[in-house]
Amino acid sequence: MITIKSFTFNPFSENTYVLYDETGEAIIIDPGCYESEEFTTLFDFIETHKLTPKQIVNTHAHIDHVLGVQAVKLKYNIPFLLHQIEEPVLKAVKTYAPNYGFVRFDEPAIDHYLIEGEKVKFGRSELKIIFVPGHAPGHVAFVNEPQRFVIGGDVLFRQSIGRTDLPGGNFETLIDSIRHKLFTLDDDYTVYAGHMGPTTIGFEKKNNPFLK
Ligand SMILES: [Zn+2]
Repeated sequence: MITIKSFTFNPFSENTYVLYDETGEAIIIDPGCYESEEFTTLFDFIETHKLTPKQIVNTHAHIDHVLGVQAVKLKYNIPFLLHQIEEPVLKAVKTYAPNYGFVRFDEPAIDHYLIEGEKVKFGRSELKIIFVPGHAPGHVAFVNEPQRFVIGGDVLFRQSIGRTDLPGGNFETLIDSIRHKLFTLDDDYTVYAGHMGPTTIGFEKKNNPFLK
């Protein structure tokens, strides 16, 4: 049984997720922590719950989702996984990070690539990787069928969608990813997004103004 813990970090109010199960093994998704208090919050949670982080997996590599990756890697000595198409997006971060005031960004190396159809495993749990480009060119989401949820990154938000004006973004591709990937999930699936609170597939099918 997976427990989902979310944190909201950095000035972009980005959601970082820690998923863990009864074995104590955990994964960290999109660690966006930047200030030392934010790292303390994350590390204290992991210590208090006696978790063993196994890997960092990212939905995509925009700055707000990768600010904490390198420090978390070093803290737990764990691999960082990203879709191969996101590699240039990650490499670009250090070129624009100072413009946003993030002078301490440290670029992490990618240890393995995430591949659609493969699984991210920890403890007795697994998440299926689906490829959902459009907000970012190599964006993925993580689906758990038994508990009917998806960690969706910046693809679909409550009554909104991810922006498509950043490099590698494409509006039609994003809509296509939502309609042909996320919306094939049943209505009762919960979507844990990269910003703001969770929603469900059914609610967005009915109420999302971008998908009418
Ligand atoms: Zn993004």
